[in-house]
Amino acid sequence: MGSSYACPCGQIGASKKPLAYAACCGRFIEAYETTPAPDAQSLMRSRYSAFVLERADYIRATWDAANYPPDFAIQPGAKWLGLEVRATRSTGPDSAEVEFVARYRVDGRAVRVHERSRFVRSGGRWIYLDGDAL
Ligand SMILES: [Zn+2]
Repeated sequence: MGSSYACPCGQIGASKKPLAYAACCGRFIEAYETTPAPDAQSLMRSRYSAFVLERADYIRATWDAANYPPDFAIQPGAKWLGLEVRATRSTGPDSAEVEFVARYRVDGRAVRVHERSRFVRSGGRWIYLDGDAL
């Protein structure tokens, strides 16, 4: 896959066009070691894109180790339909919440994930802590 395709997270750029993957979540997913997502919403978006692209390595790396489910696996065969970020709220100098709706289809069934996720910044990196289903 090239890197000029539209980013799975659906972020719209200043030109009102969808951002390319390489200019959006690809910056963080493809250069995890050197380029951390700069804020909680960017991390959240990049985690959604990593689900779409089945980058389980990135999902794991950006998940608080104490909360990472030992049996975690990306749902096979899921067709992701889109991400809608509803709200982003700073809850402290190194913590934030992002409310989002993500949709996917699997086995002919539509699934809607509505969650308020909590993120913390640790060692200069934002990571996913946990979330509440809404
Ligand atoms: Zn993106």
